Order: sequence, then structure tokens, then C-alpha cells
Amino acid sequence: STFETLNLDPRIRQALVKEKFSKPTLVQAQAIPLALEGKDILARAKTGSGKTAAYVLPILQSILRRKANEPSLKATSALILVPTRELADQVQRVATSFSSFCGKDIRAVNLTQKVSDAVQRAMLADFPDIVISTPARVLANINSSALSLNELTQLVIDEADLVLSYGYEDDINALSKAVPRGIQTFLMSATLTAEVDTLKSLFCRNPVILKL
Ligand code: AMP
Repeated sequence: STFETLNLDPRIRQALVKEKFSKPTLVQAQAIPLALEGKDILARAKTGSGKTAAYVLPILQSILRRKANEPSLKATSALILVPTRELADQVQRVATSFSSFCGKDIRAVNLTQKVSDAVQRAMLADFPDIVISTPARVLANINSSALSLNELTQLVIDEADLVLSYGYEDDINALSKAVPRGIQTFLMSATLTAEVDTLKSLFCRNPVILKL
């Protein structure tokens, strides 16, 4: 399979060429078409499988479409939850490189960066389209009213098996109440553990399960 058949926005296709992504990996070939149909995805996929682009590309596509319909939209459309700062940095690099031809239409911020509260507030003040964070950081910013998830349309929990084992359980429970009902959810996990099952019942509606 190829990326051409996916009908992605030309700006995303340009970035795929620049990043030399010529052929989807297995997880991308399986997840992206389903994600573009709006399905929830639970994928067993390890680091190195191409799991990041498997959710970043459909998220970018969805945001570009949303903004084409509503150019004045000021809202955070996607939240990407990760267990560690390292993974947050990695995901931000991927989101930035695949949106490099989108100009001001796509802005992604990483709340795990070590900056002052004032700087973090400023990063959130003009409604970044994509927020990448650990559960604790995102919750702190919701509680201080620096961030609203009312307009969220997509949620990712990457390394989902680790997110709960890192002690984010209370944060995750609080977040499950803060995200709008019925939004599209991606759970990416190296293993399908009881923790992942808990996240699935908290966040997913009948997800497609990809065991790669
Ligand atoms: P990930 O599993 O998302 O951490 O990706 C692992 C590595 O594979 C990263 O360096 C990506 O840039 C690279 N990669 C992911 N998908 C593709 C693709 N379709 N073509 C070429 N490289 C890819």
C-alpha cells in the first residue's frame, strides 16, 4: 500500500516526501484508513513500528479539514498523552515535521518542556491545535483554566501500558471526566495489559483492535 491512496491533504503529502516516508509501515497501513473514517483505534505497536505517524497523520488531516470548514476556529482539537518527557519531545518533533507545510494552521505545544508557569500559560493562550503532555501537566493546566478541552475532537494515549503504571491513575480518572464524550480515541501500547483494558473502557467506544 501507499500513502497516495489515503487522500491526505497536499500539505501533509509534501511533508511525507520531505521526510522520505514513501511507504506506510504495517501499523500505519492498518490504522490510518480506519482513523480517517473516524474509528477509535487500539493498537498493539512497539516503538520503531511507526506508531507515532499512525496517529499524527490522521490528526493533522482532521484538524486541517476542521479549519477549512471553520477558519476562525480557536480551540485545542487534539490531546496526546504520553508517560514521559522524552516521548513528549519525540512526538512533538514528529507533529512539527509533518505540519511544516501547514503554516499557522497547525500549532503543537509540549507541556512537558521546562518553562515557567507564565510561559506555559502564554503557550496555551492562543489555543494550540495539538497539546502533547503527561497526564499530570495537562490536568494542572485544566485546573488553572489555562487550557480547555471543551472543543477536543481527538485523544491519543501513547505507551498506554506505561501511563497507568507510572502512577497517573488519579490523573487519568480526572481526565476521563474532562474530555468531551464520543471523541475519537487512539490507544497505542506495546503490550495489551489489564491497564490498557482499563483505559479502553474509560475512553473508547468499540475500538478497532490492531494486534501487530
Ligand atoms: P516510531 O515507531 O513512531 O517511533 O517510528 C520509528 C522510526 O521510523 C522513526 O524514526 C520514524 O521516522 C520512522 N518511520 C516511521 N514511519 C515511516 C515510514 N512510513 N517510512 C519511513 N520511515 C518511517
